[in-house]
Amino acid sequence: MSTPLLSIENLDVAFHFQDGDYNAINHVSFNVYPNEVLGIVGESGCGKSLTSKAIMGILPENASVKQGSITFRETNLVTMKEKQWQKIRGDAISMISQEPMTSLNPLLTVGKQIAEVLKQHRSYSKKEMKEKTIALMKEVGLPRAEALYKSYPHQLSGGMRQRIVIAIALIASPQLIIADEPTTALDVTIQAQILDLFKNIKNTRNSSLIFISHDLGVIRQVCDRVVVMYAGRVVEQGKVADILYEPKHPYTKGLIQSIPDHTKRGQELYTIPGNVPGLKERKRGCPFADRCAHRMDICHTHFPDEVHVENQAVSCHLYTKEEVKHVSTIH
Ligand code: SF4
Repeated sequence: MSTPLLSIENLDVAFHFQDGDYNAINHVSFNVYPNEVLGIVGESGCGKSLTSKAIMGILPENASVKQGSITFRETNLVTMKEKQWQKIRGDAISMISQEPMTSLNPLLTVGKQIAEVLKQHRSYSKKEMKEKTIALMKEVGLPRAEALYKSYPHQLSGGMRQRIVIAIALIASPQLIIADEPTTALDVTIQAQILDLFKNIKNTRNSSLIFISHDLGVIRQVCDRVVVMYAGRVVEQGKVADILYEPKHPYTKGLIQSIPDHTKRGQELYTIPGNVPGLKERKRGCPFADRCAHRMDICHTHFPDEVHVENQAVSCHLYTKEEVKHVSTIH
């Protein structure tokens, strides 16, 4: 494989409370390669969004990186000052959030909001900025782009607003785009259109994309590789096709069972029993133990090392050396 564009190594992020620090992200490591779409999947509370905020340098005030590195183009982002960040954010790395209304300024026309990124990071004339903005608005599927340029966010539908947010993220041709649940707030038909737009971005732009979703069915449609997170840890990672057809970790298997399937219409959708443990409820050992049908004594005391099983990297005692005998009995 080529040199990673982004490399996260052994990252811990903690929230600071009066009674102490609690790690929301534990020993997270993964790479993003040039021109690939990497999915991050897991239920709410698994640390997906917090990981993306750590990459963007926008952690909440009561959280900080405790250890580890986030290397982007040979620079460790963790140690960067806010001034350096202002040059990178929106230019080399950009972000698309799940709620377009909160990321758009209600008082500025949408055209100006897209062009503003160019104003900050490039030295184009006003005319060039407008031309580039309108061309991109057309590229992301906005009809009558010239007229829409002067519209305000409240005058547009949810799907159109999300296309504007995507245009803001694309306008400076960043090397890395992070999309955090970009279709979750949209209705099903619009979701499908926005997913098509992401497939188009993947095929036409020279950017890498981190696509965050709680839904493996969505990840399947746009991503090349996927990182499965549970309770702040990476539990499995590999190519999407391998993970979908030969999942190893019991949590990944549960997520796959939860993908809506039109052939099972009328049947109740499977959900993994139990909930992701809260930040202060996480115990020693594997955080999935309370929900796992395969748990063993060691699962309650030790978090498993990451091992390579066929094409995936997986952290589960079912696959560690001492427990390898159990593998043949897992279905
Ligand atoms: Fe289940 Fe143990 Fe594997 Fe955790 S380590 S997923 S509890 S078998």
